[in-house]
Amino acid sequence: MSLPIVHYNAPILRKKGEKVTVFDAALSELAYTMIDSMRAAEGIGLAAQQIGRALQLCVVDLRPAEAEFNWELDGAKPPLDLFMPMVVANPKIKPLPGTDELIYEEGCLSFPKIRGDVVRPDAVTVNFQDEHGVPHTLRGDGLLSRCIQHEADHLNGVLFIDRMDKKARAAVDEAVKALAKETRAAAKS
Ligand code: ZN
Repeated sequence: MSLPIVHYNAPILRKKGEKVTVFDAALSELAYTMIDSMRAAEGIGLAAQQIGRALQLCVVDLRPAEAEFNWELDGAKPPLDLFMPMVVANPKIKPLPGTDELIYEEGCLSFPKIRGDVVRPDAVTVNFQDEHGVPHTLRGDGLLSRCIQHEADHLNGVLFIDRMDKKARAAVDEAVKALAKETRAAAKS
């Protein structure tokens, strides 16, 4: 089952997610609904806030992107098909010491057709729990790292437009305002 994606500037997108503490069938169900919603929208990541839930929970599937990146999950390098789509609860992210800050043009399912440059550390370590509450450590760079940092921001009510520098933010300002207006109008009808 897929749910509609919440668009900017719905108030839920600014809500910090509550920590996930119960890993039961309902949580798995929610995570799978998020995966279906992400797929239906042809995205590579989706946060709970984007389907209207303020939780520390997101899903990621980089396979459709066909991007080059490195990864290490719990000290091994399993094939992507073995752990994607990934359910990521309560992520804690740390940049790898000495990693470069890179510019990349990001998009977001809550900002249809809007893209802009965001600077983020290239390589990160993510500690998180899966849908069963099992803890994992993921190291990654490139699009994997980028995507997880973008989704983890959502879980704290932070959006990619907040991370843009002045110039990048100004370039999308008109489109962002128009989207907010559209979202407000849709909420009223
Ligand atoms: Zn997003």
